[in-house]
Amino acid sequence: MMKVFKFGGASLRDAANIQNVANILKQLNEESLVVVVSAMGKTTNALEAVVDAHVKQTGEAYNLYNAFKEQHYSIMRELFDPSESVFTEVNDTLVEGEWVLDELPSEHYDFMYDQIVCMGELVSSKIVTAYFNKVGLATSWLDARDVVTTDNTFREGWVIWDKTKANALKNVPPLLKKSRLVVTQGFIGSTSENFTTTLGREGSDYSAAIFSHCLDAESMTVWKDVPGVLNADPRIFDNTTKLDRLSYREAIEMTYYGAQVIHPKTIKPLQNKNIPMFVKSFLDPTAPGTEISSDIDDLYPPIIVVEKNQALLHISTLDYSFVAEHHMARLFGKAADLRIFVNMMQNTAVSFTICVPNVPDRIEKFIEGISDEFKVKVESGLELITVRHYTEETIASLKKNKVVLFEERIRNTLHMVVKNVPLIERKAVEIAGSKN
Ligand code: ADP
Ligand code: ASP
Ligand code: MG
Repeated sequence: MMKVFKFGGASLRDAANIQNVANILKQLNEESLVVVVSAMGKTTNALEAVVDAHVKQTGEAYNLYNAFKEQHYSIMRELFDPSESVFTEVNDTLVEGEWVLDELPSEHYDFMYDQIVCMGELVSSKIVTAYFNKVGLATSWLDARDVVTTDNTFREGWVIWDKTKANALKNVPPLLKKSRLVVTQGFIGSTSENFTTTLGREGSDYSAAIFSHCLDAESMTVWKDVPGVLNADPRIFDNTTKLDRLSYREAIEMTYYGAQVIHPKTIKPLQNKNIPMFVKSFLDPTAPGTEISSDIDDLYPPIIVVEKNQALLHISTLDYSFVAEHHMARLFGKAADLRIFVNMMQNTAVSFTICVPNVPDRIEKFIEGISDEFKVKVESGLELITVRHYTEETIASLKKNKVVLFEERIRNTLHMVVKNVPLIERKAVEIAGSKN
């Protein structure tokens, strides 16, 4: 049986890290392994800047694209001798991005985005494959676009599962017979007309789950710069603890509400086939990490997820009529059309409030689209905090220096939408407190 590993941007951000990944694979010496790789470091952000410059025709697109190329060449110079064929191969791949820049920007922004941004994963997988082979890990390169088939929703391709599965079963096993390792790209797929699509930012975890599902992998491991899944984002909280085991259900709940450690679509394809997932540290590869699988009913500590940049939309009927079912149907229909993701909702007789990610152009379109019947007040700059397995003590500490605008408790989950108390007011509160 085969396994799937996924290495993200952080684990491949420079030559030393790529060497580290090769060492991990040598140490583990797996019999049959598909390795899904992301673009190196922050490459995807850099390529988004190329797309932006191209669309706005600022004249900077080629410079930015050249900087992206140079960054990869500089890593390659550390890993390879100048005579090695990987230089030509990478060059041939990179030229395809230049062809897109040679044309005037397409009117279809999302389409063009995918044709340029895919370059990050394509070059990283070429470099990694060449390096593995150089250090004695026999590796085949696979174009993920020959496997992952999506619809035409550029930038957020929806997987067409039956085609993807058939492609995986046709293309991957022969490669695994040739070499024990197959390297492919995360994040990218292809339409049936062979145009490149991407699966949504941070989508490489999801790609690994697609391969795992289609090939009935024994397990899937994502290698991160943290010891495993923690009970809160370590960039926001001190004192986090690692969760040794997590049920699929718990992982879905966490990632749905924005825990950034795993892409939210990752769990379902694994859960459907009962494939265990491991989150491990590429800095400490023998440590056990976190296991996500079924039938785990451990006692969990409070698990905190903070999703920043949220907005509350207070919607009311123009004529003060009750907010009835047909209104809700229309509001949710409009939100779904515009791919506005509703995180929380609450209604009174004549008003309806939803918490959504603050994407101004989509929100404007939403307001415009319902303005014949509703008026909307937008409150932005908010955070959605979700706490699973909460204790009153955790909640009290999370509310410190925050104004709570909206709070809901459902069984063991608490959601609250909060705003930071401005510093000046906070000082006044503290001084007032200290007089007591
Ligand atoms: P990748 O390199 O695979 O793209 P990411 O950067 O997307 O990895 O995800 C790992 C990061 O997620 C960690 O560095 C950490 O800062 C952040 N993170 C947010 N929430 C959590 C959490 N609950 N547990 C662990 N890491 C978290
Ligand atoms: N490279 C892509 C991104 O940064 C996909 C991924 O890393 O998961 O969004
Ligand atoms: Mg990521």
